[in-house]
Amino acid sequence: MKKIAILGATGSIGTQTLEIVRRQKDIQVTALAAGSNISLLEDQIREFQPVLAAVWEEEKAKELRIRTADLNVKILSGMEGLLAAATEPGAEILVTAIVGMLGIRPTIAAIQNGKVIALANKETLVTAGHIIMPLAKERNVPILPVDSEHSAIFQSLQGERGNAIHKIILTASGGPFRGKTIGELQSIRPEDALKHPNWAMGRKITIDSSTLVNKGLEVIEAKWLFDVEPDQIQVTVHPQSVIHSAVEFEDGAVIAQLGTPDMHLPIQYALYYPKRRSLKGKRLDLFDLKSLTFERPDTKTFRGLVLAFEAIKRGGNVPTIFNAANEKAVAMFLAGKIGYLTIPEIIEECMEQTRFRAHPDVEEILETEAEVYELIESRW
Ligand code: NDP
Ligand code: MG
Repeated sequence: MKKIAILGATGSIGTQTLEIVRRQKDIQVTALAAGSNISLLEDQIREFQPVLAAVWEEEKAKELRIRTADLNVKILSGMEGLLAAATEPGAEILVTAIVGMLGIRPTIAAIQNGKVIALANKETLVTAGHIIMPLAKERNVPILPVDSEHSAIFQSLQGERGNAIHKIILTASGGPFRGKTIGELQSIRPEDALKHPNWAMGRKITIDSSTLVNKGLEVIEAKWLFDVEPDQIQVTVHPQSVIHSAVEFEDGAVIAQLGTPDMHLPIQYALYYPKRRSLKGKRLDLFDLKSLTFERPDTKTFRGLVLAFEAIKRGGNVPTIFNAANEKAVAMFLAGKIGYLTIPEIIEECMEQTRFRAHPDVEEILETEAEVYELIESRW
């Protein structure tokens, strides 16, 4: 039996992870953590019987304790709960499927406790990659990517025995507004942006995909995971989402991973790496594909990507500023407080106005986040 813990169990990646557990029947879940959806979490506790579960608010934790009084499960709350779930002694693998830089401390704690990280929570690597990657190396802990593009890159690197990456081709669907002009984006409402053409995902990442901020976060994520410079990463819009990303080697060979857009594959690959297991679902049929097309991203209309490249080039806490400003701006957009085009405006403004720190530790990363939030609250 493989033993895993999941942060963000009730979300898009979390529920798909549990779907794999359900199908494969040889994984034991030892800990589950969620934000506030205690009804789903209760169902999951009953089905998978973890020894520990965590929810963010203590009020909700109290209610869940009452609901699960007949079960042998410990219920915790807050950061203490997340840290306990991330370091639950029985688990070998931690699936980080929580959303946002809230994942930093639990991910670090899990690595310190020797857990293999199946990483979906990209915001953590974007903001603390300079801490997480050396720590994982020191502790000899693998960080296995769950993000589909990074899983594709990781799969393309298998068997290469250290052959250097010349270039990464990071594919992007282009999101629901590909081809639109700035004028047309002016009136975008949350419900328009929540419709992604190829992938069904959580709300925050769906908005990020529409602004190309998600691709920007993925560029930074790729830099940390594969130790490449930003100018070795070429973002290519590929609306069919069939080529999930590719690696070009020194001799010009390009190795890619292709498939239907289904997150079960990268999740399962991370859980069983290096083994491949059977996976049901729609298969790629080349005869069904009318064509595969490629375009340069429209970086004038969608500023998210350019700002991310700038953030990683400036380094220090600038990727944190980029990410924190986006997290806050997206939450405000979803709450109907700001317009769609204000999202990149806020990110850019915060990148200019927030104090620079060259080598931020976790404390300073969190201080930067607080400063960004203060700035946004005072201005928008
Ligand atoms: P969802 O919004 O669907 O799920 C987020 C999860 O985090 C939920 O379980 C939620 O709990 C939990 N959560 C939120 N706030 C807290 C909190 N304060 N404490 C504890 N748990 C909390 O997100 P996704 O699954 O879409 O994304 C998760 C991560 O994976 C993100 O970093 C995203 O970028 C990345 N990713 C996602 C992909 C996808 O296809 N969805 C693809 C590639 C990467 P609750 O339900 O109770 O609110
Ligand atoms: Mg992705």
